[in-house]
Amino acid sequence: MRMVVACVVVMSMSAAAAGAAQAQNAPARSATPPAAASPAAACTNPDALGVSRTVEIDTTGGPGFGFEHFKQHDFLKRNEVVLTFDDGPWPGNTPAVLKALADQCIKATFFPIGKHATWYPEILKQVAEAGHTIGNHTWSHKNLDKMKFEDAKTEIEKGASAVHMSAGGPTAPFFRFPVLKHPPQLVTYLGERNIGIFSTDMDSFDFTMRTPERVIESVMKKLEKHGKGMVLLHDFQKHTAEALPELLTRLKAGGYKIVHMKAKAPITTLPEYDELVLKDQKLPTVNTRPTSSVVRTIE
Ligand SMILES: [Zn+2]
Repeated sequence: MRMVVACVVVMSMSAAAAGAAQAQNAPARSATPPAAASPAAACTNPDALGVSRTVEIDTTGGPGFGFEHFKQHDFLKRNEVVLTFDDGPWPGNTPAVLKALADQCIKATFFPIGKHATWYPEILKQVAEAGHTIGNHTWSHKNLDKMKFEDAKTEIEKGASAVHMSAGGPTAPFFRFPVLKHPPQLVTYLGERNIGIFSTDMDSFDFTMRTPERVIESVMKKLEKHGKGMVLLHDFQKHTAEALPELLTRLKAGGYKIVHMKAKAPITTLPEYDELVLKDQKLPTVNTRPTSSVVRTIE
């Protein structure tokens, strides 16, 4: 039986998702991510926005959230906001988002792309260490609506494995479809896998905006209209990262309260897809020691 303890409203974005990042070409391995946010320490900012409520979501049966596509679970009260960030982890932008969230002592939900997670596991680990919830946004951000079932399933499962392995700890059975296309057969599959589906209530369309000010304006306007909701943003986007400190200040001034979603139980990845990720990506997470400490000439 499905027992949703609580649900978050995600501000959905059909079109927004469409413009979101395709998985980028692999960057140089030598790229060093900038230092990120401070880990989840006790909040020391007396004026912080803070988390007003934490909800636990039981994903048994694959419940769907986000009024753009799902109508079943309305768990936010007036003025409550859930922040979600897609398409990371990415150098510069994700650490900046983490810092802004840490400065205001709030928690969010991230939907990373599997490939990006394998390129920047250090950044994803910082997301995990800061206490945020980490879901999955496929292996390479393809529109699953246009794929054969088996290929689409691989996108989902390989993404889950890559994110889980890169995060270095438990991740949530939370999934967001790229471009918010929800093929019925895959919705059924996620239900069988007990993975929750997160559309959105409100799409910020941040990836279309050329300045941080526009991102702030877009989110505030939509929140004023709806009064509450799950907001879809992208930690992949520079302007979103730049907008976040001021956006959070505006949320506080507007009387909005942050709700943090947690999963009742972590995702169980499938071993065959864990293998695929290891084989394909040669994860930096399993190879962090310098060669000089692994192999040395002894005679
Ligand atoms: Zn996306």
